Amino acid sequence: PLVLGIETSCDETGIGIVRGRTLLSNTIASSMDEHARYGGVVPEVAARAHLEALEPSIEQALAEAQVRLEDLDAIAVTSGPGLAGALMVGIGAAKGLAAALDKPLYAVNHLVGHIAADILAGDAESAPLEYPTIALLVSGGHTSLLHVRDLTTDVEMLGETMDDAAGEAFDKVARLLGLPYPGGPEIDRAAVGGDPQAIRFPRGLSRASDMAKHRYDFSFSGLKTAVARWVEQQEATGEPVPVADVAASFREAVVDVLVTKALAACKDLGVPRLLLGGGVIANRRLRDVALERAAEAGVSVRIPPLSLCTDNGAMIAGLAAELIASGRRPSTLAFGADSTLPVTEIQVAEREAV
Ligand code: ATP
Ligand code: MG
Ligand code: FE
Repeated sequence: PLVLGIETSCDETGIGIVRGRTLLSNTIASSMDEHARYGGVVPEVAARAHLEALEPSIEQALAEAQVRLEDLDAIAVTSGPGLAGALMVGIGAAKGLAAALDKPLYAVNHLVGHIAADILAGDAESAPLEYPTIALLVSGGHTSLLHVRDLTTDVEMLGETMDDAAGEAFDKVARLLGLPYPGGPEIDRAAVGGDPQAIRFPRGLSRASDMAKHRYDFSFSGLKTAVARWVEQQEATGEPVPVADVAASFREAVVDVLVTKALAACKDLGVPRLLLGGGVIANRRLRDVALERAAEAGVSVRIPPLSLCTDNGAMIAGLAAELIASGRRPSTLAFGADSTLPVTEIQVAEREAV
């Protein structure tokens, strides 16, 4: 099916068009610059930016895909989780388009979209996604380990972060190192030439006693505090802060704990497959370490291309195309923004069978 996906859960206005698993276009307009000076996303500013960006973005995505609105088989939209006002702008546009064009509408989960992004990477050479798979979702607002039996019907949560998300930790540590928002790519850049073993920062919930109770859970706030304290102490000595070493060591701590716990889940559940998704998966070191350690463990890894890791509309369209292919009915128009939609709810407001 030819599907147009609308993503407005945070500060990216993403419009993606797919035909089945084939990506046709993926336009992203970001209001990031407007938030940068506040050090984080301002919800009202984001919602307003979506309102302005939606129409030109849809035009551009259609032009790049070389399709017309009338050609579409369905519209897809993120219904949550995310910023309520931002979500509402995308949902309003999607409902309007679906009604005006008389096309089915699929309201889908943003987090499952992140995990589904890898499907679109599928070309003739890459093997189709196999089930079950363990999925590691690492984004700005979430850090979760999932047992995925089928992306369209069965996503089980094994564990999640008890405090900050990994992306949030990147953003906060970047700020205390004086680097701009968003912090992930900045830390990646700052870590070039740094020694990842220079400072041994804590790996949250990784001690034997924690692993008994929180085997698949994460904690990053202690790490953030440890970095802050280390930097303060360094500054107190009057010596310059070795930013590259701090960035590399911090990044190493995050990557280590993410990969260790994901591979533990693969081993425990006897699932030799790992699927990665979410903005933090854009991290170079995370991609490298996951590939290396999974290979040692005999686990195959699927990693979406960089352009599909952070928020985009293509992953939303792609997930809807999967739902359609597996026979799911469209959503009713009676759904709204759900800022805390759990990852287990793949689609919302599916129509009753008649
Ligand atoms: P959620 O998906 O949980 O609702 P979100 O949509 O805001 O949150 P994403 O867009 O998936 O999050 O990811 C954004 C996050 O990814 C930010 O915290 C950003 O710092 C982080 N990120 C982006 N690139 C990198 C990178 N190269 N290394 C580490 N983190 C990165
Ligand atoms: Mg974002
Ligand atoms: Fe996201």
